[in-house]
Amino acid sequence: MSASRHGGRAKCLQRLVRMGLPLPTTVALSFSCVHSIAQGRMPDMAQIMRHFGESPLLSVRPSSQDPDWGGPGAILNIGMTDLAHARMCEQMGEEAATSLYLRFIQSWAVHVARLDPDSFDIPDRPGPGALQAALAAYEAEAEEPFPQDITVQLCEVLRSMARAWEGTTARLLRQAKGAPADAGLGLVVQQMALGVGQGECGSGVIQFVDSQTGQPQVTGRYLSQSQGRDALKADAGAIYLTRDDRGLSFEELCPEAFERLLRMGHLCRERLREEMQIEFTLHEGELHVLDAVRVQRSSRASVRIAVALAEDGMIPREEAVLRVEPQALSELLHRHVDPSAPRDLIVSGIAASPGAATGRIVFSANAAQASAARGEPCILVRRETTPEDIRGMHAAEGVLTIRGGITSHAAVIGRGLGLPCVVGASELTFDPKRRQMVTGGGRRLSEGDVITLDGTSGEVLAGEPAMFEAVLDGAFRRLLDWADDFRDIGVRANADTPADAQTARNFQAQGIGLCRTEHMFFEEGRIGMMREMIFAKDEAARRAVLERLLPMQRADFARLFEIMQGQPVCIRLFDPPLHEFLPSDRAGMRDLADGLAVTLSDVEARVAALTEYNPMLGMRGVRLGITVPEIYEMQARAIFEATVQASSDGEAVVPEVMIPLVSAMKEVELVKARIDAVAAQVRAHSGVAFDYRLGVMVETPRAALRAADIAQHAAFLSFGTNDLTQMTYGLSRDDAGRFMSIYVKNGVYEEDPFHSLDLEGVGELLKIGAERGRAGRADVTLSICGEHGGSRNAIEFCRRQGFDYVSCSPFRVPVARLAAAQLALSDKGRC
Ligand code: PEP
Ligand code: MG
Repeated sequence: MSASRHGGRAKCLQRLVRMGLPLPTTVALSFSCVHSIAQGRMPDMAQIMRHFGESPLLSVRPSSQDPDWGGPGAILNIGMTDLAHARMCEQMGEEAATSLYLRFIQSWAVHVARLDPDSFDIPDRPGPGALQAALAAYEAEAEEPFPQDITVQLCEVLRSMARAWEGTTARLLRQAKGAPADAGLGLVVQQMALGVGQGECGSGVIQFVDSQTGQPQVTGRYLSQSQGRDALKADAGAIYLTRDDRGLSFEELCPEAFERLLRMGHLCRERLREEMQIEFTLHEGELHVLDAVRVQRSSRASVRIAVALAEDGMIPREEAVLRVEPQALSELLHRHVDPSAPRDLIVSGIAASPGAATGRIVFSANAAQASAARGEPCILVRRETTPEDIRGMHAAEGVLTIRGGITSHAAVIGRGLGLPCVVGASELTFDPKRRQMVTGGGRRLSEGDVITLDGTSGEVLAGEPAMFEAVLDGAFRRLLDWADDFRDIGVRANADTPADAQTARNFQAQGIGLCRTEHMFFEEGRIGMMREMIFAKDEAARRAVLERLLPMQRADFARLFEIMQGQPVCIRLFDPPLHEFLPSDRAGMRDLADGLAVTLSDVEARVAALTEYNPMLGMRGVRLGITVPEIYEMQARAIFEATVQASSDGEAVVPEVMIPLVSAMKEVELVKARIDAVAAQVRAHSGVAFDYRLGVMVETPRAALRAADIAQHAAFLSFGTNDLTQMTYGLSRDDAGRFMSIYVKNGVYEEDPFHSLDLEGVGELLKIGAERGRAGRADVTLSICGEHGGSRNAIEFCRRQGFDYVSCSPFRVPVARLAAAQLALSDKGRC
């Protein structure tokens, strides 16, 4: 018998029998047999019935290959007829026999005959006429008497369950859980251990770990005179399993059975190499095991259980690493909404940065800062964020934007900060007069109202639903340490600030793969200087302002080197268009005019002069480095002086300097010549010899195509898949959110290419870039550093192309480490 032919439940029951557990007689029907039943071809029923002796009562349960794919509900007490009822009245008393018959009539009527459930409610205390009433109701509704032959009953139950599995709804539901279109269903026919009758009878479930934490703990319930999973129903009057101050426990009621269950749990763990939940029945004091299923578990528990099984020698470490879904780690790293909490959905957007946060609505960065100063958690809501909002984002618990996609400003910063973020909630509009936001359905929310962002699902909820906190426990760390032993591709972090770097370090990133230096200029006290520089009349004035920024940048870099303790740090030179540093509204411009002691019209003129029709394809990145070279020179000096400083009290630091938005080799040549000159000056001035590595960000299609000559001047090529996706598709990363969901819904794109790396198009360019880059320089280091870097399909692609590392947001580093290890292990398994 195998799970792929008879289903997971059947396979598990066979193992329980072999382990000597007291299971009632069980017959398993294979996928092909059940498929034939659905087509109207019944198996040899006499042969099935032969296993169960005279007048049995039977149950039928579904057995799909993966229990998560579901299946029709179990049907119990097949075989209850007028005759069986009369016999059982004598054996166990009328009340118990009637209760079994009523239950069977009800489930037959609803699940087999498909009659209206309202006509078949079982009363809490069935009176003497209840059975006759139920049989009469059945006859009236079904227009035929209740079937009195067990073989007929069993045939119909099998047929209805087989057909239910092949129905469209069931198929769609399981496909959503990852089942293939042709997934089969097995069925398990089992003799009933009744759980009702004379003496101590009842049923219960037991498990040996806590489903939330994964810690060892006996949990479950037992209910006298009950069947199936009745004991788990709310208000059923079930008792606790272990001794409890609140009342009698199963341990006290049936100490021997309890002890036996504990031994069985231990045996299951050892032999099935899994934490199981056991469904049991006590019939006249005798213990029967009916079923055992994998314990349902939270993400946190799944990590704890896998690690504990490996530590106890039940499974190898490789298997523990393979058993945890990488996405489960993401849940552990962030607070998240309790899945069972009620959700009052206001609006949905794009899930841009995972985790959940609750706070009062604020509509500006200033209001966010004021709210944080008052100690009041807030959610910053903006049409879209600009670099000016960064301080507000730091102050907020979460960010919601109406526009933008997965690589928009709010999304990138949110992920870097580990701040929950929902973007592109395009159904919302602002009503600035009333300081409100309004949903498509007309629901209004005012500044100060409490909302909750679920950045994992993209939902915005009213109020404050219950949350689960992030947990980084020992098991989590151990699992990742094991993962690192199997991983064969590096994982670095995108980190712009010391706080990001510290997070990267804590998550054991193997260095910084991308430090976006422009974010450092938005800090308090610096943006003013940046603006002064932008307003400078000539090069000399610009250099004077840059001289004042130099020590700040030097300190930034020195701090990064210090935190990363000798791990590589890749610093990208200034990238965005300058106008991003200028205010966008009149009040901001007036403020700036005040600060710079110029007229408002001067400011307006400068802003207008810097305005571009298409700034993302305009004066940014290396183009700025060539036309205003003093900015890159200042940054290079700051990097090298910090290198000298950091190397003086430890191991020599070898910084990596990266040029953004390159499209031609000549750009690299020009910038390299200047940076080499700055390095020579710093060496001469400090008397310290240091090395540095110059690299290029490949984020224009032309850079990928011309990678062979570009690599001659670059020790490394890092593919910026955000811009590369934008330029390959000709799709604005800031505006695509407006129509992306329609595109995906219509199947134009399978997924948002900013979210999931497009292997066919962008991937082709990566492949060409990597091959040509290697042709130009055999030992060139290759990596990706766009937002795709932490995702499984991008890691898989990079491994296949022989890339050296991926770089992703610090909070995705653990997910990437685990996914990379799983890919390496699956490859090994295939060899
Ligand atoms: C990229 O384009 O992929 C990238 C990492 O740079 P940024 O997102 O800063 O443009
Ligand atoms: Mg870029």
